Amino acid sequence: MAQFPPPIESPEIKYTKLFINNEWVNSVSGKTFPTINPCTEEKICDVQEGDKADVDKAVAAAKKAFSLGSEWRKMDASKRGLLLNKLANLIERDAQYLASLETLDNGKPYLASYFGDLDVTIKVYRYYAGWTDKNHGKVIPIDGEYFCFTRHEPVGVCGAIIPWNFPLAMQACKLAPALACGNTVVLKTAEQTPLSALYVASLIKEAGFPPGVVNVISGYGPTAGAAISEHMDVDKVAFTGSTEVGQRIMMAAAQSNLKRITLELGGKSPVIVFADADIDTAVETAHFALFMNMGQVCTAGSRVYVEDSIYDEFVKKSVERVKRRAVGSPWQPTTEHGPQVDREQFDKILGLIEQGKQSGAKLMCGGKRWGDKGYFIEPTVFADVDQNSVIAREEIFGPVQQIMRFKTIDEAIEKANDTKYGLASAVLTKNMETAMKMSSAIKAGTVWINTYHVLAGAAPFGGYRMSGQGREMGEYGLRNYTEVKTVTMKISEKNS
Ligand code: NAP
Ligand code: MG
Repeated sequence: MAQFPPPIESPEIKYTKLFINNEWVNSVSGKTFPTINPCTEEKICDVQEGDKADVDKAVAAAKKAFSLGSEWRKMDASKRGLLLNKLANLIERDAQYLASLETLDNGKPYLASYFGDLDVTIKVYRYYAGWTDKNHGKVIPIDGEYFCFTRHEPVGVCGAIIPWNFPLAMQACKLAPALACGNTVVLKTAEQTPLSALYVASLIKEAGFPPGVVNVISGYGPTAGAAISEHMDVDKVAFTGSTEVGQRIMMAAAQSNLKRITLELGGKSPVIVFADADIDTAVETAHFALFMNMGQVCTAGSRVYVEDSIYDEFVKKSVERVKRRAVGSPWQPTTEHGPQVDREQFDKILGLIEQGKQSGAKLMCGGKRWGDKGYFIEPTVFADVDQNSVIAREEIFGPVQQIMRFKTIDEAIEKANDTKYGLASAVLTKNMETAMKMSSAIKAGTVWINTYHVLAGAAPFGGYRMSGQGREMGEYGLRNYTEVKTVTMKISEKNS
């Protein structure tokens, strides 16, 4: 394994206030809320609780920072790139601290925070830093004596509402493209994990972004989140979270100012294992697909379809692998598996496991709380799951793997697409024709072939059907943050 600095098990909490106009302020209401350590169920600290009044202040600051003639609007595009690169460097400088803070607040293993979340965060900022002076328009040869061209302009004040499962990476996936295109942002973190984005806000100030360009509000969804999605001065909202809340955001946008929206929502992604795949590699890939981040991943491979002839062996090996999964303190470098993020998720997952048992699925291992403190759940495997049961259809967002069987490729396609979601999928096979046929037949925004969870700042990501609207990341991700303006000028003589 690559070298890594040891975790700071009790990182100092430096920022708990709201970040508005490059200043740290208390909430207007004076209210605070606790953030909890999921390993111990104890309070880490109280943070300021933003609601509508604070969102109004943040939006006003972002609007001012976006006004014509402001420092941000006049800034050279290449300078925006320098600022984004500087921010990436500062995050890298403080990676040990930030990874420790993320583990404390979210519960994920420190090594995953350090090598996973921090790595993605830094790379996404660097990737979009390179785009700042490359998102340009075209000259269009329209009929007549005209000079016609397009300008790629920023949309304006962008709201960003993020979940708790990858707080740092989610913050980067929203902020980096928004800032690269010259927008200003009001970001609301998830109530469970407010701390890492507040620290990044301090680095945004240190990097030299002008006041009001980025504002960070800690607070609850129905208050602060709703205030952003309903706001008449917010021009766009980028949301990652549940499908249910995504629908609410879309309604709020429709009923307010028709703000642009992009939605990254839930999933119930299939992993399809053909008999010709190397079985040990396939078991490991399917294991990683589901259990990474304690199953709290929108792309989690939560429906594993295995070809009949290898089904029994696959189930047996999957159970053996799950029993070897190292559950425990996220501060230990050998730990693969920490707690779920909070009591609500913990209770919801245990409830779905009960429903799984009642549905007649075979509980092969796990199924209970692990230990007696913290929100730990034993890694769990269900086999012989009915395609129509709740655990095969609903997103569990926890460490619960469902294994099912198929006989023909057509049956695999039909079952894979028998869902309201369409976020991700994987095909495990040595046969290239099978892989190509499956990759065009599956209705999902991502198809992985013989791998899983490979995400990159340069590659677009998003969902079909109820898994979302639009694509984030890569060049495609710039569209979300760009308005295209057509400028047509009368000229006396057309150039050839
Ligand atoms: P969630 O309840 O939808 O919350 C996501 C964010 O929305 C949080 O910041 C939440 O605030 C906020 N929110 C809640 N109600 C709101 C409202 N009425 N108006 C505006 N904002 C509101 O989802 P979660 O439980 O945190 O995360 C798990 C879900 O996210 C899963 O379904 C998962 O699939 C999905 N997810 C999708 C992706 C993707 O890229 N497609 C990535 C990660 C997660 P509070 O938490 O403070 O209430
Ligand atoms: Mg917390």
